[in-house]
Amino acid sequence: MLRQRFATAITCRESSEDPAIAWIKRNYHVDTVDIIASPGSIGKLATEPEGKTTKTILQKIEQSRQTHGSNLVAIVAHEDCKRDAATKETQYHYLNTASDLIYTSGYPGDIIRLWVDTHNTVHQLP
Ligand SMILES: [Zn+2]
Repeated sequence: MLRQRFATAITCRESSEDPAIAWIKRNYHVDTVDIIASPGSIGKLATEPEGKTTKTILQKIEQSRQTHGSNLVAIVAHEDCKRDAATKETQYHYLNTASDLIYTSGYPGDIIRLWVDTHNTVHQLP
């Protein structure tokens, strides 16, 4: 049997409701995405670098890397998100700051930033 390929996603949503998950599978050729889901997680990563939520998320990223060999973390924000309300500008800022934080924590894999609009189109930040 071929070994499953994993990625990791930080998002507000559980499971396949998030169009970003299918997008990651398709564009990064992975079979399964470990989802780290909690409402407001992107904002907390960006604004509370020493906070409990941030520490938990960093631990889960590391777990996904060690147990599943995931070498990719996607940080996901949704336009008009009910679970993480913020303007588009703020969301972009959160994505960038959260990405920097994960990088600075020593994560050796790739980090991508995804913004999902209200039509469920997934945009990758350059
Ligand atoms: Zn969301």
